[in-house]
Amino acid sequence: MNSREQVDVAIIGAGIAGSALATALTSNGFSVRLIDRSDQPLDTARGDHIQPAMAPVLSRWGIWDSLLLAGGEKRFGTRWFDASHEHIVTIPVPEHKDCAPWFLFLNHEDIGRVLLDRAIVNGARCTLGAKHWSLTRAQACWHLSWESPQGAEEISCTLLVGADGTGSSVRSRLDIDIQRHRYHHPIAVLYGRQRTVPEKRTLDVHLTQSRMLSLIPRTGGGTKIGFPIAVEELTLWRDAPESQLHEQLRQWCPTLDFETLTFGALYPPVSQQSEAYEGEGAAVLMGDARHAMHPARSMGMNTCFRVADQLANMIAELSPGFSERQVLPILQQFDRQFARDLAPILSDNHAAGLQMDTIAGDGFAGLTGQLRAASSRANVLEAMGLKAAGISA
Ligand SMILES: Cc1cc2nc3c(=O)[nH]c(=O)nc-3n(C[C@H](O)[C@H](O)[C@H](O)COP(=O)(O)OP(=O)(O)OC[C@H]3O[C@@H](n4cnc5c(N)ncnc54)[C@H](O)[C@@H]3O)c2cc1C
Repeated sequence: MNSREQVDVAIIGAGIAGSALATALTSNGFSVRLIDRSDQPLDTARGDHIQPAMAPVLSRWGIWDSLLLAGGEKRFGTRWFDASHEHIVTIPVPEHKDCAPWFLFLNHEDIGRVLLDRAIVNGARCTLGAKHWSLTRAQACWHLSWESPQGAEEISCTLLVGADGTGSSVRSRLDIDIQRHRYHHPIAVLYGRQRTVPEKRTLDVHLTQSRMLSLIPRTGGGTKIGFPIAVEELTLWRDAPESQLHEQLRQWCPTLDFETLTFGALYPPVSQQSEAYEGEGAAVLMGDARHAMHPARSMGMNTCFRVADQLANMIAELSPGFSERQVLPILQQFDRQFARDLAPILSDNHAAGLQMDTIAGDGFAGLTGQLRAASSRANVLEAMGLKAAGISA
């Protein structure tokens, strides 16, 4: 071993959840060590739209302006189209004192980089490429050791955080239970460039005859297209030539006009929720390790921010160098609040996931009717806008 360090918090996983928590904790003076098995940028296809309600949190962490400087752009609401390709309704971003007047979007890996850079500037240490790590209990703390391209290291930490995604190793090593719903249909992601890109960008959802297509703005005028597919179509989508991608999209929605299209990625969506850790020592899961969601409502990453903020605010009641005995009641309080606040987010997101989880939507008549009814009721539209923005109505 060539180094040993004692930190307040060790975080396994330097994705959005781990980096967000590290940013929040280090801005309050806590010592943080981040460890990730990967040394590659984060997966670009994932969470890229930040809810307006997150603006005050990200400003407090000192990264709202950095996200804009890194190329973040503005999205104004969500438009819905019916199976005849007619516009049904636009859900606007509400005017509200506690949120930005637009969604901020930036590629996922850039959001991660901005967060991680800030955490490091604040004093966090981060090891990427730590493929094998081991965890043991010691006197009122955890011992973590790993090997990375920088060599072998060992640290002690008072609080252990598992932010290592849906397949969390921390969860399995600590024997934490999980409830999981696997959706039937994988989500395919394509990247493209539409011939006409409006100056004021919106997220567009097309309820085509068979499936729901989401057209999500990317920076620089690009578009990410997400839709459910049959398991048997996996190879077809992965290997299809560009002309076939155009043809298929045109069949579903002739009003779409893409100049370029490429295959991006395939995801098996899940909704899962881990139990609280009840073993010996101070440990907690967060991010997708704790609460993975179907991407239909763009809430997974935003929930990472929300939860990181809650946990960091609670820990801020302690001073750097806190003991295990001091942090344990804080974790219990966090778990109670987490269960209470997360339940409505998860159930709302799961309902949206189920609605999207079909390749035989039959024109989505029910949903179209609801949206049409909402379009003429200002109070309903406002409530929908507040919810999408991340503010409880
Ligand atoms: C297609 C798609 C689109 C989405 N769009 C949105 C959106 O617009 N808005 C939104 O809010 N959410 C969105 N989401 C959800 C969002 O991307 C996730 O909820 C969020 O990225 C989860 O972050 P995380 O840090 O918890 O997990 P991850 O991003 O999975 O990060 C986990 C990290 O842990 C590391 N790791 C894993 N295992 C280990 C291990 N054993 N040891 C050490 N390190 C490990 C990984 O390398 C990774 O860096 C989308 C998801 C998908 C799939």
